[in-house]
Amino acid sequence: MARVVHRVLVAVLAVCIGLSAVARGSEPAPLPTPQDGYFQTITRVVDGVWLIAQPQPFQVQPIGNVVVIEQSDGLVLIDGGGSPGAGRRIVELVRSVSGKPVKAVAITHWHGDHVLGLSAIVQAWPAAEIIATDITDAHLRGRSMKAYPKGAPDATLQAAFDQRLDGADGFVRDSLAKSDLSAREREGFEAAQRLFAQYRKDTRDVVLALPTRTFVDTLKLDDATRPVELRHFGRGNTDGDLVAWLPRQRVMATGDLLVAPIPFGFNAYPADWQRTLRAMQALRPAVWLPGHGAAMRGDAYVSRVIDLIGHTRGAVAPLVKQGVTLDEAKKRVDLSTDRARFVGDDPWLVRWFDRYWTQPFTDAAWREATGEPIEQGEG
Ligand SMILES: [Zn+2]
Repeated sequence: MARVVHRVLVAVLAVCIGLSAVARGSEPAPLPTPQDGYFQTITRVVDGVWLIAQPQPFQVQPIGNVVVIEQSDGLVLIDGGGSPGAGRRIVELVRSVSGKPVKAVAITHWHGDHVLGLSAIVQAWPAAEIIATDITDAHLRGRSMKAYPKGAPDATLQAAFDQRLDGADGFVRDSLAKSDLSAREREGFEAAQRLFAQYRKDTRDVVLALPTRTFVDTLKLDDATRPVELRHFGRGNTDGDLVAWLPRQRVMATGDLLVAPIPFGFNAYPADWQRTLRAMQALRPAVWLPGHGAAMRGDAYVSRVIDLIGHTRGAVAPLVKQGVTLDEAKKRVDLSTDRARFVGDDPWLVRWFDRYWTQPFTDAAWREATGEPIEQGEG
C-alpha cells in the first residue's frame, strides 16, 4: 500500500511546500498513543501459527500484517513489515513466541508497507532467505521501487523520502485546518499526524532488502507438521501476488488480495482479482489471514470483496458504453450500498473508502473496460 500514501504525498507536495517550510524547527509531533492501535501485536492463530497485526487495522500509513509459521528447522514469515523500525519490533514479537531462527520470509507483493522492514529482519537472521514471485522480484529491483536504496542507506534517496513525508505532514495539517470536519474526522487526522511522526522515526536509514529466491507458480516449503505452499494464482491486487497456504491447518495468508476494513483498489486487475479469490475459496480455508486486519474464520468477507469488485465493474461498464469520461465516471459511480456494508456511516472511514477503493478501482475498472493497460505504480 505504499503507493496509496505516495499518491497522497504526490497530491499534496505541490501545494504544501510552503507549509512544510513553516513546519521545520517547530515542536516535534507527538507519537502514537495506545488508543491509536498503531503498533503491531502478535496473536496465536492455531498451534504454531501467529499473526502480527495492528490492533486498529485502518491506518492512513499502515503496516502490513506478518504471519509467523513454525516448522521443525526454523520459522517462515509471510511479509516483512513496513519500515526498518517496524521490522525491529517484528523481530522482538517473533522472539517472544519462539526461540527458533527465521529461515525464510515470503513477500506477498512489492508495496513498501510489506517489504521495508525486511532489512531489520535479515539483520537479526542473516541466513534467512527472502522469497518472492519472479514478477514481484522484478518490481522490487526495477522502476516500481526505484525511490529506495538497495543494500545500504543513501543520503540523496533518504532526503527525497523525507521530503515526501513533509508533504504528508502538510496534507494532514491542511486537512485539520478545515472548519467543516466532523469530530470523528478531526480525531482521525490527529491520529494520522501521530502515526506519520512515528513513521518518520521508523524510516531512518530506509533500505530495501531484495529477494534471494523466486518462483513462478508454486514453491513448497515442506515440513512434517506445517508444510507451506507458496502460490501465485494470477493477478489481483498486483500482477505478482503471492499467497501462502497451509494445507494441514487450512490457513490461507492472502497479502492485500484481502484487506479489512477497507480493501485497497490501486492499479488492480478487476476480473483477475475475482478469479484469484474464487480459486483461493475453492481450497476451503478455515482461517483467512488478510494483508491488513484481523484473522477471519469463514469466507463471508471474501465473498463480500468479490461482490464489491463485481458491483464496481458493473457500475463502470455502462458509463464506458455511454462514452462518459473517466473523471466524470469517478463522480457518478455510486457504491454507497456496498460502502455501508464495509464501513457503515463512520465519516472517517467513508472518506477513506472513497479514496482507497471507489476512486482508484473505478480507474482500474475503466481501464479494464476500455482495454487501456493497467500499470503498477511507483512505491
Ligand atoms: Zn498493504
